[in-house]
Amino acid sequence: MTTLVTGAAGRIGYHVARLLRERGEHVRGFVLPGDPGSPRLAATGTEIVEGRLEDRASVDGAVNGVDTVVHLGAALTSRGGTDNEFFDVNIKGTFNVLMATRDHAPGIRRVVFASSDAVYFESSKVPPDHLPIDEDHPRRPGTIYGAAKLAGEEMCRTFQRAYGIPATSLRFSFVSEPWEWIDPRSVYGRRMFVHEAFKALAALPEYHSLGRRGEIEEQKLEALRQLDDGTDQLFVEVSPDGTSPTYSQADARDIAAAVISLRDSPAAAGETFNLAGPTYVDRDLIAYIARRLGLRLTEITAPVMHPSWYLDTSKAERLAGVRITRSAFDIVDEALSNRPDLGRSGPP
Ligand code: NAD
Repeated sequence: MTTLVTGAAGRIGYHVARLLRERGEHVRGFVLPGDPGSPRLAATGTEIVEGRLEDRASVDGAVNGVDTVVHLGAALTSRGGTDNEFFDVNIKGTFNVLMATRDHAPGIRRVVFASSDAVYFESSKVPPDHLPIDEDHPRRPGTIYGAAKLAGEEMCRTFQRAYGIPATSLRFSFVSEPWEWIDPRSVYGRRMFVHEAFKALAALPEYHSLGRRGEIEEQKLEALRQLDDGTDQLFVEVSPDGTSPTYSQADARDIAAAVISLRDSPAAAGETFNLAGPTYVDRDLIAYIARRLGLRLTEITAPVMHPSWYLDTSKAERLAGVRITRSAFDIVDEALSNRPDLGRSGPP
């Protein structure tokens, strides 16, 4: 069996390719030319095909004759993707993958599409209708990234109806590799470490991939400015009502394993699933990271930029027996065991 993994040199794609290779499958990894993640991917025995999702000819060649497609390649908000890239790479690129599959993969058994919880995300200032968010929660994307993911899901559903291509869409929340929890410069570090958060917020243009810069951003920037003395320290946002936001998260290895299980699940064809881990990014986790790193933690009281946002993942378990169990605390411990120089105190 041959599987095409797009975005195979990325955070999740690498682990999907690695796990499939460990099962003895043939994997073709579609990567950007010169992607720095390619050598690590090649070491798994994955066949590497370079190209761009916007370029139909290169996608046609990559899809040729495959049995399944795991479509993870995309421009991401957290990697500084622009609205133009969300349109060109995520909408047009997904269309290209589906058209290429229709035309060049006659034996296709499943397309798995990486969507996002951004399809629910009306605005970074508006809380969801209900928590936890299940798959029936209204989809009201308030970002072009979210709209592009919803468009991708709709195209998958339409290609299934029109051309009989069985497709499964997966809505992930924050997905990370262990080191990203303890490195201030990672995309997740920039949400917890004062200096990096200040720098990232100060550099935010008026129109950014999560919306338009406004009063809430300015208040948070001011709170971080007052706190930032250039040293490593963490912060937790606390609303004027004393609550702190809670978000879903998952480890890239667990998401990769779930992607493969859902690819192989007959019950998952034509379905859409939320996927996330059992623990959250919240005050407790950030306090734990600060304690393990031996760093100061400060609560900043300002209007919270992103209200609480966490997913109900019971549908994946109910229909396909997929449940992620690894806790974020264990992931932090693992990251620190790989970098013992950073941990300044033992587990509590
Ligand atoms: P990633 O950025 O690590 O990987 C994405 C890959 O896509 C990269 O290797 C990149 O080189 C490739 N890519 C980007 N533009 C391309 C183009 N024009 N042509 C070909 N390849 C291109 O991201 P990830 O965290 O592994 O995410 C994988 C998928 O999951 C993405 O579709 C993303 O939108 C979705 N997702 C991720 C998260 C998360 O928190 N990481 C959350 C929700 C959804």
